[in-house]
Amino acid sequence: MTLPHATAKDCIFCKIAAGEIPAKLVYEDDRAIAFLDLNPQAPSHLLVIPRKHIASLAHLAAADVSLLGHLQWVASQVARHAGLANGFRVVINTGDDGGQTVNHLHLHVLGGRPMTWPPG
Ligand code: 5GP
Ligand code: ZN
Repeated sequence: MTLPHATAKDCIFCKIAAGEIPAKLVYEDDRAIAFLDLNPQAPSHLLVIPRKHIASLAHLAAADVSLLGHLQWVASQVARHAGLANGFRVVINTGDDGGQTVNHLHLHVLGGRPMTWPPG
């Protein structure tokens, strides 16, 4: 069987992209999906992921540069649709020191409250 996208066995976000694990989707297209984070850290906390399995930002190939641009565009669209006209934050935790816990590239979109800087 030919899979439409590269998937990784036991990857929870690949399973969400395939519809095998439920999530509250707010956006989907042929390359990306966005859904509500299960453990929100702000009044609005969305995740934007590629359908294709990419382990992290550190694993991005040159051929995926336009995909990353698309994911950032999706982030801006879901932020707009979530009503985050006062601003929002986009975060890509990468690797152990970056605090990444799910090894499938994802953009956090956080909003609905003022964010602090620097992050912890
Ligand atoms: P990371 O720590 O890797 O940057 O972010 C992973 C995020 O995925 C966390 O904010 C966590 O709450 C979220 N998450 C983990 N498992 C699930 C899940 O099964 N469903 C959803 N919707 N979010 C998840
Ligand atoms: Zn994956």
